[in-house]
Amino acid sequence: MADKRDYYEVLGVGKNASESEIKSAYRKLAKKYHPDMNPGDKEAEVKFKEASEAYAILSDADKRRQYDQFGHAAFEGGAGGAGGFDFSGMDMGDIFGDLFGDFFGGGRSRGRSNGPMKGQNIRTAVRINFKEACFGVEKEIDIVLKDECNSCHGSGAKAGTSPQTCSKCGGKGQVVFTQQSLFGVVRNVQSCPDCHGTGKIIKERCPDCNGSGFISKKKNIAVSIPAGIDNGQCVRIRDKGEPGINGGERGDLLVEVIVGNDPIFKRQDRDIYSTVSMTFAQAALGGDIRVKTIDGEVIYNIKPGTQTDTRVRLRGKGVPSLRNKSVRGDHYVTLVVQVPTKMNNEQKDLLKEFDKAMYGAAEESSEAAEGSEENVGSNGSKPKKKGFGKHKK
Ligand SMILES: [Zn+2]
Ligand SMILES: [Zn+2]
Repeated sequence: MADKRDYYEVLGVGKNASESEIKSAYRKLAKKYHPDMNPGDKEAEVKFKEASEAYAILSDADKRRQYDQFGHAAFEGGAGGAGGFDFSGMDMGDIFGDLFGDFFGGGRSRGRSNGPMKGQNIRTAVRINFKEACFGVEKEIDIVLKDECNSCHGSGAKAGTSPQTCSKCGGKGQVVFTQQSLFGVVRNVQSCPDCHGTGKIIKERCPDCNGSGFISKKKNIAVSIPAGIDNGQCVRIRDKGEPGINGGERGDLLVEVIVGNDPIFKRQDRDIYSTVSMTFAQAALGGDIRVKTIDGEVIYNIKPGTQTDTRVRLRGKGVPSLRNKSVRGDHYVTLVVQVPTKMNNEQKDLLKEFDKAMYGAAEESSEAAEGSEENVGSNGSKPKKKGFGKHKK
């Protein structure tokens, strides 16, 4: 390739450009010319390859030094042969993962290595009720966990034998194959098909675990659910997930908490909402009513002339904060006047008497008049009242 452009020129940076200048110059070009963004555009493809090649060299301190000294000649006649740049020594996943992160949906997945790896997390769920969520609770759950097999100590090989090094991958657990692609020759790393990434082949399986190295057992695990937890949140229990691989640590157990609905209380973050009914007389005259809270019943003193749908606040009677139990939300109570639907004649007469005394003489058809405009029928038009109730346990 005689007329290759200068790498610095390709990226549009100076010879003294810093690492981050090179990176950001390449990022711009790569986004502009990436084949995913320019399907079928040959020129963009060429530009993309050119920029990628320049970046591959200039982002590597050693290669950059060689390039500065010898120019393109530094990399000619290499393993790639004539023409294409040899990408075989590079992990494209690293470059793209590093540069684009979320832009292209994260780095490419890496091949499995046979080094220590943390085990997978296990997910499960537990149901609790409203008050348990407010105050915290200890629950026990049954879960099937794998443990290292005692007979083979996790090797999976029958007692007296030991696993042999996989000949396909030489014990590395990975196989590498090269592929001609857009970038030139790309090296792909895959989990070894013979040993499934373990690097070992078991000739005689351990009879106790059937060669898996693990025994599954049902375990009872205590889950400590903190006060203030909300529906859908998870409790993480360390080291109760799948066992690690090749001596890695265990994964975690993630317990999703499902909070059942409560017939009385509704929750919004740390505040609780409920509705309490009062009689017309209580609303008009004022008086004490009982209000259920998560701490038990409290007595709330209604002011005379309280309208229906008045909302009062019981400070500090809400849900505790997950971070600090002593910080609590509030409990809002909506007071609703209960209109009687079944009355005997005596009660009806008294009510008519009352109406007469209150609003003057009415026609005998006063039953219909109850809905008249002059009647109480307020719709909570009064401003909200601050809670001043005397709370008693
Ligand atoms: Zn075993
Ligand atoms: Zn293998």
